[in-house]
Amino acid sequence: MARGAAHHRIKCVNCRAAFDAAMRSTTAPRIAPRARATLPRGRRVMASADAPSTSARVRELRNEGAYAVLAKAKALEARGRDVVHLEIGQPGFATPENIARAGMRAIEGGATKYAAPDGTMELRDAVASYVARTRGVDVDADEVVVGPGAKPGLFLPTLAVVDPGDEVVFPDPGFPTYAAMVDAAGGVKKPVALRADGASFDMDALERAVNAKTKLIVINPTGGNPTGGVMPREDVERVAALARKFNCWVLSDEIYSRLIYSESSSGSGDVSSDGASNSATTSNADDDSVFSIISLPGMKSRTILVDGFSKTYCMTGWRLGWIVAPKTLAERVKLLTVHSVGCVAAFTQVAGVEALTGPQDSVVAMRDAYKIRRDYLVDALNAIPGVTCAKPAGAFYVFPNIASFGVSSQELADYLLEDAGVALLPGTDFGANGEGHLRLSYVGDLDTLRDAVERIKTSLAKFASRP
Ligand code: PLP
Repeated sequence: MARGAAHHRIKCVNCRAAFDAAMRSTTAPRIAPRARATLPRGRRVMASADAPSTSARVRELRNEGAYAVLAKAKALEARGRDVVHLEIGQPGFATPENIARAGMRAIEGGATKYAAPDGTMELRDAVASYVARTRGVDVDADEVVVGPGAKPGLFLPTLAVVDPGDEVVFPDPGFPTYAAMVDAAGGVKKPVALRADGASFDMDALERAVNAKTKLIVINPTGGNPTGGVMPREDVERVAALARKFNCWVLSDEIYSRLIYSESSSGSGDVSSDGASNSATTSNADDDSVFSIISLPGMKSRTILVDGFSKTYCMTGWRLGWIVAPKTLAERVKLLTVHSVGCVAAFTQVAGVEALTGPQDSVVAMRDAYKIRRDYLVDALNAIPGVTCAKPAGAFYVFPNIASFGVSSQELADYLLEDAGVALLPGTDFGANGEGHLRLSYVGDLDTLRDAVERIKTSLAKFASRP
């Protein structure tokens, strides 16, 4: 073993020498410094290594704002600044102990080999029972595909149903992966604006956007990112009617389905400029039932339901999620899984079975804590001159309106990071219609939120009084 390592080191030293020689060689193709300097900014990345061009389907991809702002905030922290983090949508709670221990025991027991690409039978059975119970529909384990997080559940089904040129309708502002997955599939993006309180689509705009060319409608109805909005039941029914009329698929991203706050607490205090109330017709405050489009007549055969463990069970780093889809589509998604990520780690799947079948009190406790934070944050933001904030019924985000400050949301987000040391996201990270808003996540505890609000208040007062 030691000999092997030494041999490897020698080989690497040789490689390095050869590489350095090649880099010194005058025959090695290079971009002349002047040519590089004159390339337009967006194209420089592709041309810099003299590499052949990338495909059209990846050219428009952008990073997720949360990762970019986190990197900026970390750079500030490295220079000694104290930063409050409200940018990332990651639960501040630890993975519940029973779940973590199940995963660790599985590793100790040797569950570290390849697993079935669509998920172990135990996990697919557990998911099928869970979805059947929570959504009130029959689900077969063959209709379940497990993946590393909910994201593959967005991406792979989109690849499986969208042909180049097909139109895909999705919320704007909305989760950035929606636009990215349409680009990657070669589809045509049809972003649709939300109503002022962010709870749902502007339904007239949605009706105008869906037509015979629409292949897929994406909804994020059970607590939306970035607004936290929960779609009223009648709007979900209208989406279903459109999907049936134009024979298209619906992808229902229900990742925040267990973070819906009770109806009584969601209606009052709304401050949407059009007076619309941000009231949830779906509430899982007292049980785990979730109203889902999949349960509506004629919808099971055209719905891709996406959910997962990241938010409900604080398992963002374990990478575990699932879809429920008609068998023929599930089979295609399984094949895409085989040829892309392969499978989810077997021990992670054991932890997933424990999450779904074990005690659920941590989910309830967490949701109660988030609700207190939401109520505090919404009231505190509304007390800041120039800021208005609707009270969302789900997820762990608020999306206050800051248009009165007269600058772009990007400029204000940058200013608040620099001046107040508060990391948050500009609404435009979620689409052009997010302009005039900021996204704050309230995964941090109340002390963190209080600190953030004080800093924001002071900095915005300074900003407003600038000459
Ligand atoms: N869908 C929405 C709306 C999200 O906000 C997120 C994560 O932030 C995801 C999907 C992805 O979840 P996962 O981390 O399980 O891939």
